[in-house]
Amino acid sequence: MGHNDRTSVATTDVTYDLGQLPPVGEVPRTMTALVVRQDRYGDPEQAFRVETGIEVPPLGPDEVLVAVMAAGVNYNNVWAARGYPVDVIGLRQRAGEPYDFHIGGSDASGIVYAVGEAVRDIAVGEEVIVHPGHWDPADPWVLAGKDPMVAPSARIWGYDTNFGSFAQFTRVQAHQVLPKAPHLSWAEAAAPTLVGTTAYRMLHGFAGNQVQPDDVVLVWGGSGGLGTQAVQLAALAGARPVAVVSDDERGAYVMERGAVGYVNRSEFTHWGIPPRVDDVAGQKEWLGQARAFGKRIWDIVGERKDPAIVFEHPGAATVPTSIMVCEPGGMVVICAGTTGFDAMVDLRYHWTRQKRFQGSHGTNDAQAIAYNDLMVAGKLDPCLGRTVSFADLPRAHAEMGRGEQVFGNVVALVGATGD
Ligand code: NAP
Repeated sequence: MGHNDRTSVATTDVTYDLGQLPPVGEVPRTMTALVVRQDRYGDPEQAFRVETGIEVPPLGPDEVLVAVMAAGVNYNNVWAARGYPVDVIGLRQRAGEPYDFHIGGSDASGIVYAVGEAVRDIAVGEEVIVHPGHWDPADPWVLAGKDPMVAPSARIWGYDTNFGSFAQFTRVQAHQVLPKAPHLSWAEAAAPTLVGTTAYRMLHGFAGNQVQPDDVVLVWGGSGGLGTQAVQLAALAGARPVAVVSDDERGAYVMERGAVGYVNRSEFTHWGIPPRVDDVAGQKEWLGQARAFGKRIWDIVGERKDPAIVFEHPGAATVPTSIMVCEPGGMVVICAGTTGFDAMVDLRYHWTRQKRFQGSHGTNDAQAIAYNDLMVAGKLDPCLGRTVSFADLPRAHAEMGRGEQVFGNVVALVGATGD
């Protein structure tokens, strides 16, 4: 979709404050948004700034404009604010986009205010949430019926794309729009979709290693955004989720969400790149710790059963342990490298025990619908950890970047005032 294929849907010059909404269907020309600019890249507390007078984005034929009621915080916009590892603004400009700013935000609850001319099944006034999978419907990979999240055009809305949910209005593709669970508040509904759909794909998306009843599933960061959803999804599938956390308070939180037990990683020190394979003494010490870590999992599940799935995202610090403790034929599935990108794999364990190290990213429509159906049916807790004001979003991201936000998901109110 080129920028020139889009047209403005604005109908009024009146502007509205945060916490106020125009009459449904009336679209202001400009809005308030939380904006990152290239000269501010760095700590999210400085990089994000609330700006007024930002153009409400024009729509293409398959796109939808949603008035954001609440917006969820995710780690991806910590990365966007830092401009690392990707300068998202520069990347988009090089691809022909005119904007010199980034509006992040990959989780939203809200109300549909306008639809593109080709959108048939979504009406103005609907209460919705948005999943973050974004791709070009005309991409040959997508047209061939293959998984669109693997297509060259696949993007994460509100990270790779501009006009995410940290603004009064967000622009999304029609296929991203899903019904909001009626029993959830605006803030609750905005909390879980990015991490939940990501977790759903990781656990259910890879044929041959989909989660099965009775499987042991090891979930790193069990009390965090991804972790709380992964633990619940594994438990719903009849598996036995074992969480890893860094203190007992986080352990207690994740036990309430269905973990059969937790390992406190602060009791171990063998993190990061292990000693080289020809360092016999170093290897022995490292293996001793890794085996002790694995034994803690056996103690929790009450038998010598290793994880069939290891749910990975810390990356460099934990991948060697994940590969080591994974069951033969099992899968380490990874969607991030929060602690570093240069992880080490000891290939001896990997090939002889025929393990799978699987990358995963985002969600496709089928996975997002399956996840949201569980949410609508009341089978999942959205794990709203904390609700903050719009002005507090920079600090919430800075805290997340420092690893201080560990209980579920943080949400900011945008159009909503109470809940
Ligand atoms: P989060 O809520 O901040 O949780 C991160 C968790 O990581 C914390 O609960 C923490 O648990 C754990 N952790 C921190 N340092 C660790 C270490 N050194 N070793 C082991 N665990 C450590 O973040 P999130 O929303 O779950 O996201 C996590 C990562 O996934 C981010 O990098 C995010 O960008 C990425 N992500 C990727 C996708 C995708 O589609 N590719 C989707 C969602 C998220 P303890 O300190 O208690 O162990």
